[in-house]
Amino acid sequence: MADLGIPQNTIAVLQKYNFHFQKKFGQNFLIDERVLDRIISASEITKEDCVLEIGPGIGTMTQYLAERAGTVTAVEIDRALIPILEETLCDYSNVTVIHGDILKFDINQLVQEKNGGRPIKVVANLPYYITTPIIMGLFEKQVPLKSITVMVQREVAQRMQAQPGTKDYGALSLAVQYYAKAEVVANVPPNCFIPRPSVGSAVVRLLRHETPPVQTKDEARMFALIRASFNQRRKTLVNSLGNAGELHISKEQVFEALAQMGLSPTIRGESLSLEQFARLNNLL
Ligand code: SAM
Repeated sequence: MADLGIPQNTIAVLQKYNFHFQKKFGQNFLIDERVLDRIISASEITKEDCVLEIGPGIGTMTQYLAERAGTVTAVEIDRALIPILEETLCDYSNVTVIHGDILKFDINQLVQEKNGGRPIKVVANLPYYITTPIIMGLFEKQVPLKSITVMVQREVAQRMQAQPGTKDYGALSLAVQYYAKAEVVANVPPNCFIPRPSVGSAVVRLLRHETPPVQTKDEARMFALIRASFNQRRKTLVNSLGNAGELHISKEQVFEALAQMGLSPTIRGESLSLEQFARLNNLL
């Protein structure tokens, strides 16, 4: 089967099937061999690996993954792509294509069936409209993972790596850093895709921590606290947490906890490190 990393081959497949891109599914297909090679090398795939690909499109990266991995399972939401994938992946007996929505898909069951519950690798050129729910879903559902290597919007990659006090720092930075070590492995310009996205992209590798870098009594509550702290960025923590009805915390309690931590009563969420959020959660 022709290498789909070469633009002419992708165009030929799209024309043969009279394929129409669906904006609502975030469809921007990769057409750059160097970027594909970079993703594959960053994910360090070997024949020992069981790989989950989210959104295979016409199967471009799937072909690269199938060459190197033990098995590849690719979940694609767009029914129109299924017959195309049957053709482009017909040479690979180690690939399974599943028609479905990744946000409704039971990935833990897949890990059980395909890899006996042992950790898998996730590799994807993600649909940008659901990057955060996909990544958070993988972490929060405790999917056994070795690593996640994904193409995301450049701005999202910056948010994942951001440190306290910077404009990109927020709930996503804290969640990603709680679960994993995030590293940008490549910046990718719009001309590497068809159609071209309006934003720059980046490949990020997330290596899951064996144990979280901070201890908290209640993980779910810590993330509720973090979300409430960043809901209104410009408000002080005393106001944003004291006004978040679902947390059932009074302003006085926040005030007191901050005092115990030696922090200013006018401090904002954007200044607190992950460690400080964990301590604040434990105190509250
Ligand atoms: N992997 C291909 C490539 O690199 O050329 C396509 C990447 S494209 C950015 C994202 C893909 O995810 C599309 O094929 C799209 O149809 C698919 N997709 C979008 N939403 C999805 C969902 N909820 N579940 C599974 N696939 C989805």
